[in-house]
Amino acid sequence: MRRAIFPGSFDPFTIGHYDIAKRGLELFDEIIIGIGRNSVKKETFPIRERLTAIENAFADEDKIKVEIYDCLTVDFAREQNAGFILRGIRCVEDFEYERNMAEANKQLGNIETILLYTRPEYAHISSTLVRDLYSYNKDITAFLPAKAGSATNE
Ligand code: ADP
Repeated sequence: MRRAIFPGSFDPFTIGHYDIAKRGLELFDEIIIGIGRNSVKKETFPIRERLTAIENAFADEDKIKVEIYDCLTVDFAREQNAGFILRGIRCVEDFEYERNMAEANKQLGNIETILLYTRPEYAHISSTLVRDLYSYNKDITAFLPAKAGSATNE
């Protein structure tokens, strides 16, 4: 069984993230979306609400599971018996960052990172953009998966 984790902050989980997870199912039998608890980054959407929103988005998809973790990503992968880390890249900056992370994770946990290019129509979407809009009380529903539900989608 080919199992991957898809780790991130997902604050919030956008249609860009959704698309990467869905496309990841072409490559993996099971994907565990790991919401990393980060004590440094200030959260906008409470972590439990993020969990519920992602679970709702994949309610019909039993090959995708969602977990919260607060350890190193390689340790989370090991805990989940996953040999792969799935990530998305939008631009050169993402590429540089992901390369460093992939090398570190390979060295620390012998875990391979698989990168998928974002679809061009989602390349401008980031959690940061969505948080900014949210802070100005703008409607963010267009950036969230349709079935995310009320957690981030008021
Ligand atoms: P982190 O805080 O670890 O960077 P994010 O929640 O921002 O995590 O993103 C998780 C993963 O999803 C990263 O690999 C990121 O590059 C990717 N990603 C973010 N936005 C998009 C998007 N619009 N399309 C495709 N991939 C994306």
